[in-house]
Amino acid sequence: MLEYLVFDLDETIYPRGSGLMQAVSERISLYMIERIKMAPEIVPRLRHDYWEKYGTTSRGLQLLHGLDMDDYMQYVHDVPLSDYIGRDPALDAALRSLPQRKVIFTNATAAHAQAVLDVVGVAHHFEAVFDVYFAGNQGKPALGSYRRLLDALDVPGHRCLMAEDTARNLRPARQLGMTTVLVAPLPGGDVDGADYVIDRAADITRVVADLGRVQPDGTRHG
Ligand SMILES: [Mg+2]
Repeated sequence: MLEYLVFDLDETIYPRGSGLMQAVSERISLYMIERIKMAPEIVPRLRHDYWEKYGTTSRGLQLLHGLDMDDYMQYVHDVPLSDYIGRDPALDAALRSLPQRKVIFTNATAAHAQAVLDVVGVAHHFEAVFDVYFAGNQGKPALGSYRRLLDALDVPGHRCLMAEDTARNLRPARQLGMTTVLVAPLPGGDVDGADYVIDRAADITRVVADLGRVQPDGTRHG
């Protein structure tokens, strides 16, 4: 039986086209230039390398440059959210219709998550936010952070569904037995690791309905 719906936050709870993450991304580069005093021309390559090697830019900065995570997280999320995102009544209705417990699992901070959930108008559906600090600053896609999440929820993976816009972050979830849902992948982008692909988070209702038709022997009837 499906017990938990685990949602990523950024570009899952609101659409990629909102421009919010581009604004955050610009502030990440600015932070590296202004606060860490890196030469602007090396920043794009470093960010790419850290993302590949450590999972997130912040993890690479922490390991190699002694990043002050609190200062960094405050700085990069200092953007006016409502310039980019707004209420999503369809998502609100979808979440209301689903009886499963719902949590957020994000590589951002709980403060950013709460602010985003408030603007989108869905904060009341989520009973907890597991943020970048939860797993000792080592977030997705480190497998250990998913194990800690399941421990905290006290639930086996097969009773959880995870919805994410980044396929790479779904693969550890699948490894631990969760049902994986990729939200709005880029055209031609990575979909490896996704059991389902949907266009927007509100479509999660279709996935849950479909799972309800999957019999205990694993066969699907619909
Ligand atoms: Mg995301």
